[in-house]
Amino acid sequence: MQSQEPHSQELFIDRFGASPDGRVISPGRVNLIGEHTDYNDGFVSPMAIERHIDLAFRARADRQAVLYTGIDPNPVVVDIDSLNRLKGWGMYPQGVIRHFAKDGLEIQGFDAVFTSDIPSGSGLSSSAALELAIARTLTAVTAGQWDATEMAVRCMRVENDWVGVASGVMDQLICATAVEGSVSRIDCADYSTYPVQLPADVVVLILHTGTKRGLVDSEYNERRSTCERAAAELGVSSLRHATLDMLDASDLDDLARRRARHVISENDRVLAWGQAVTDANWSEAGSLMAASHASLRDDFEVSGPALDAMVHVAREVDGVHGVRLTGAGFAGACVALVAAEHAQQATATIDREFRQSYDAIPQIIPSSPARGTHLADS
Ligand code: ADP
Ligand code: MG
Repeated sequence: MQSQEPHSQELFIDRFGASPDGRVISPGRVNLIGEHTDYNDGFVSPMAIERHIDLAFRARADRQAVLYTGIDPNPVVVDIDSLNRLKGWGMYPQGVIRHFAKDGLEIQGFDAVFTSDIPSGSGLSSSAALELAIARTLTAVTAGQWDATEMAVRCMRVENDWVGVASGVMDQLICATAVEGSVSRIDCADYSTYPVQLPADVVVLILHTGTKRGLVDSEYNERRSTCERAAAELGVSSLRHATLDMLDASDLDDLARRRARHVISENDRVLAWGQAVTDANWSEAGSLMAASHASLRDDFEVSGPALDAMVHVAREVDGVHGVRLTGAGFAGACVALVAAEHAQQATATIDREFRQSYDAIPQIIPSSPARGTHLADS
C-alpha cells in the first residue's frame, strides 16, 4: 500500500505551505472472533492494528474543511454548513461534521492531509479509521472533550445514517478505544471492554487475499434485518437474548433460523475463545475459529471463494493454531493465530500455496495489538 509515502506533516507543508497544528493516528482493526454479532448486542474480540491513517491538520478561520489524501493532487472540500451529500470518500468526513453539528458540538473549518496503509474494502475497517481520524481532528481544532466511546457511537451513526450501511458499533469502538498490547472483548450491549492478553509465543497474521469486496451494502443490510426479524419472532429484544433451545422450539423459517443460529453460537464462541487464549489452549482457540468460519460460510453465508481458499490453505500450515475470515466477509482478509516460532515459515508457505490455489496476490501482514485513535506527539 502507501506505507512508503512521506509523513503526513511533510505533505501538509507541501500542500499548504505552512506547518500543521497537530497530527492524528487512527488505526484499522482486525477482528479475531465474533462476526456479525455487534448489531445483535453480542460479543466481539477485535484489536487495532499497526496499519493506520496518519493525518496532519490545522484549523481554518472559515467554514470549510479542505482535505488531501497523500496520493490525489486535488483536495476534497467540505462546506461544513452544506447538506448536499458528497460522493466518494468525502462523504465520510462530511458525515462526521454533520453528526457533530446534529449533536450540538462545535464545528470549525480545518485543513488536513492524510496518508493510509490500511487496505480498504477488505474487512480491516479503513472507514472507521477515517471517521475517527476526522472526529479527533474536529475535537482538537474546537478544543472539545474527547470521549472515545461517545465518539465511536457518533461515528457508527455516520456509517448508518449518512453512508447508509447498517453496521454495528464494533469497528468504531475498537478503533477509538483500543489499548496497545491487548485484544479487546467488547460487550456490544453496553460497550464495556475487557482485555484479552495474547502471550508472546503467539502472533496475529492478517491474511489479505488480494481481493476486495464489491458493493455488498445491501447484503449487509439484509443480514441485519433478518436478524432483527428472527429476534422479534423469538420474542426477544435482540438475538443476544436468544438461545439455541429457543430456536429449536420456534417455527422460524430456514433462512432466519440459520442466521440466528450463527449469531447465538458465535456469541458463545467469543467467550470460550477468550478463555482458551487465557489458558493458552491453542487447539481449543483454533477449533473455535474454525467453527466461526464454518458458521459464517454455511449459516450466515458471508464467506466468498477467496476467503474459503485462504482458510483451506492456512489451516494445514505448521504453527497455525486457527484461521477464519475477518470483518463483514465476501472478500478481503482472513485472520490467523500462529505460534510465534513458526510465523516466518508459515507466512512464506501460505503466500506460496495461496498463489497456487487462487488467482490473486495475497498480502500477509503481521500485527501486534495497537493503540486506538490518538493525537501524536509530533
Ligand atoms: P472497510 O472499512 O472494510 O475498509 P468500507 O467499504 O467500509 O471498507 O470503507 C472503505 C471506504 O472508506 C473507501 O471506499 C473510501 O471511501 C473510504 N476510505 C478509507 N480509507 C481511505 C483513504 N485512505 N483515502 C480515501 N478514502 C478512504
Ligand atoms: Mg468499513
